[in-house]
Amino acid sequence: MKTIFSTEDIFRISAAHGASPGSLVATLQDIQAACNHLPKKALEILSRRTGHSLVDLYGLVTFHPALTLERRGAQQISLCRQEIERRVPLAEDPRFFRVNVACPACNRGLLSYDQRLDGHPMVLLHWTIRQRQGWLRLSSLWGDYRFATEHPIATHTITQFSCPKCDAELQSDWLCSRCDAPMIPLVVRSGGVIRFCSRQGCEEHMLDFGD
Ligand SMILES: [Zn+2]
Ligand SMILES: [Zn+2]
Repeated sequence: MKTIFSTEDIFRISAAHGASPGSLVATLQDIQAACNHLPKKALEILSRRTGHSLVDLYGLVTFHPALTLERRGAQQISLCRQEIERRVPLAEDPRFFRVNVACPACNRGLLSYDQRLDGHPMVLLHWTIRQRQGWLRLSSLWGDYRFATEHPIATHTITQFSCPKCDAELQSDWLCSRCDAPMIPLVVRSGGVIRFCSRQGCEEHMLDFGD
């Protein structure tokens, strides 16, 4: 199986699908079919080719059940192309996509279904500010900054977050590029890490592919 794509390969596949709605998904499916997954390199080339940002492409892959960043076993890709197209609706808006996140310490899922936002589960975290504690529920849609909190948190306060399952503090060595507060890491199930700023009111956040 071919695992390394040339820029020409990506351009050829992309050109074959044109610019119609859904062509991006079809292009990604073709690349995935050839590589058995979607290598980061291929997404980078496609990003330059199409003008879609890498974050948008990554979002589409995360959102779309038929696409994956991880190499799959032969049995898992036995669905033929037509079957995939029939069963899976196309991603409508790649700017908003649901991320399934887990705790970096215990790897247990952080999506909570007991309180939903527009029908979507929310990401449940616990927070501590000095002696105060509470829960925070974040929208699980990438790009959506809405959240709910048990007690109000003053704007600009740096908040300590922990996993509601194992109580481990969620911390990293990364500092926010806007405000220097620590960035909070969450593992993305489909591959990669989300980091968001721990300072209340700062909307800095990033998605890292990892490798
Ligand atoms: Zn945990
Ligand atoms: Zn910040």
